[in-house]
Amino acid sequence: MNCPECGATDTLCKSRFDEFLVLEFTDVDYGSVHHLTVAAYMLQHSSKLTREGWLHMRGLLREFLVENKPPEFVRKQNRDLVDSGKRTFKIASRDGLPIINKSTWTKTICDVRTENAEVYCADVSAWARAVLIDTETIMI
Ligand SMILES: [Zn+2]
Repeated sequence: MNCPECGATDTLCKSRFDEFLVLEFTDVDYGSVHHLTVAAYMLQHSSKLTREGWLHMRGLLREFLVENKPPEFVRKQNRDLVDSGKRTFKIASRDGLPIINKSTWTKTICDVRTENAEVYCADVSAWARAVLIDTETIMI
């Protein structure tokens, strides 16, 4: 069965995401795009997010890719909001209901090659950019 959210064959997206997180945490060169991997994956799997969480993720992706803010800068900006419990909305959702109704995408996590860090980072960036473009016009 294909993933009902990102459309990946045999729902391979979940196992790839888990593999990628391990790669990113064990190799700093792969880890340099961690913020993009998480945002792109979560935006495509909106059942894991609340409405506010999804909008927050899309905003982050825009900050990384369009405004070219480094992840450290965005993290710092968000620290108050996220770490101190001042955030007024929940990011994660457990009800399993998708926030957006979309299962066809320009790229998915399955388009990312892993043979070396350079290829990996380029492919994750391309995937994240495609997700941003695919989601830019979605009104929720
Ligand atoms: Zn999927």
